Amino acid sequence: MTRILHRQIHATLPVASGGKGIELFDSDGRAYIDASGGAAVSCLGHGHRDLIAALHAQADKLAYAHTSFFTNEPAETLAEMLIAGAPQGMSHAYFVSGGSEAVEAALKMARQFFVETGRPERRNVIARRQSYHGNTLGALAAGGNEWRRAQFRPLLIETHHIDPCYAYRYREAGESEEAYGLRAAKALEDKILELGSDTVMAFVAEPVVGATAGAVPAVPGYFRRIREVCDRYGVLLILDEVMCGMGRTGTLHACEQDGVVPDLMTIAKGLGGGYQPIGAVLLSGRIFDAFAEGSGFFQHGHTYMCHPMACAAALAVQEVIDRDRLLDNVKAMGAHLARRLSERFSHHAHVGDIRGRGLFMGLELVEDRSSKEPFDPSRKLHARIKREAMARGLLVYPAGGTIDGARGDHVLLAPPFIIDRAAIDTIVERLGDAVDAAVA
Ligand code: PMP
Repeated sequence: MTRILHRQIHATLPVASGGKGIELFDSDGRAYIDASGGAAVSCLGHGHRDLIAALHAQADKLAYAHTSFFTNEPAETLAEMLIAGAPQGMSHAYFVSGGSEAVEAALKMARQFFVETGRPERRNVIARRQSYHGNTLGALAAGGNEWRRAQFRPLLIETHHIDPCYAYRYREAGESEEAYGLRAAKALEDKILELGSDTVMAFVAEPVVGATAGAVPAVPGYFRRIREVCDRYGVLLILDEVMCGMGRTGTLHACEQDGVVPDLMTIAKGLGGGYQPIGAVLLSGRIFDAFAEGSGFFQHGHTYMCHPMACAAALAVQEVIDRDRLLDNVKAMGAHLARRLSERFSHHAHVGDIRGRGLFMGLELVEDRSSKEPFDPSRKLHARIKREAMARGLLVYPAGGTIDGARGDHVLLAPPFIIDRAAIDTIVERLGDAVDAAVA
């Protein structure tokens, strides 16, 4: 009997007992290809020798030192590295233990920025309906997944939601991508004007929506217009790259492909590749300066900030990605994965959309392709696909999001950056069999 409160109380989970490269093993000796990196975490796969060595070396030197007394070397070096690779204008990094903590910190930075600069009336957060930003109360308030929010709503800070940029569901027949992108971005302007522009603090969005929607990128031009709208009304742009960032889409940051620079960016997951829990906020010089010239501190903090082991792991992950030119592999293997998915699923009766960027790809399952009608939520199709995939030695991330009030089913693929063609072919073959078995 387990003494852990698991997510699914009645499910019996296999015991993960080891991992090597792209595979995880359970205690019964079964092997699974980790085609989702957990939840887009394990970007270097499992049991990577360089990571094991880096963790040993850091544990030998220093495991922990509280940030009210000390800074530490791995944290300083990691911050230098992240800022060197960050979009122009970002000047500092703030290290926490995961994605939700990063989002909480970013929201509080936005708020403190306006307090420091004499505009305390700016308090409203705008986010998008189909989005996930974490499960702590601030991050949950920002997220748009009603299923996750419903019972906690009385505890959530008020957040205002607009429609996402989601071409498969919201682009009208005959509307160009460009026109749709401008229309979708106008929803932000309308909401800012409705709330009163001097009350709005920040707009939060995932450049490629992950956990609620299975890798939905915005159409070209959408985020550039979003940036213009934020600038016009003095609203801070927070891009949540916890899932889609750190190389997952083929560039270090997903927003590079959208041609925008945020004021605040959250990263996690692939930052430490699962070797340690770590997340971060990257902030622009403008926000740092407001703190530096104002109160002289950011009023926030956690016990495990700048954790030396976590920062050493993240540093080693990023060094391996750089040394082994893994972003080139993400691009090449991402193109191969997209091709294979298209061959296998573009005529599938129950796959309505195949989308994504780099090694971050999603399928949307529909009951009916022409009407795009989702499956009845009571079928829990995404959970069935996960089970059928595991029975075939494959791990894929099942997502259920809120689409037009109904829950849709999605599959998210986020394999390790070290993946090769043969493994991708096996993933798509097993996934095809799993989807066929689940919809039967
Ligand atoms: N933001 C995004 C975009 C995410 O995908 C997630 C996790 N799925 C989070 C925030 C929360 O991260 P964590 O689970 O590490 O708290």
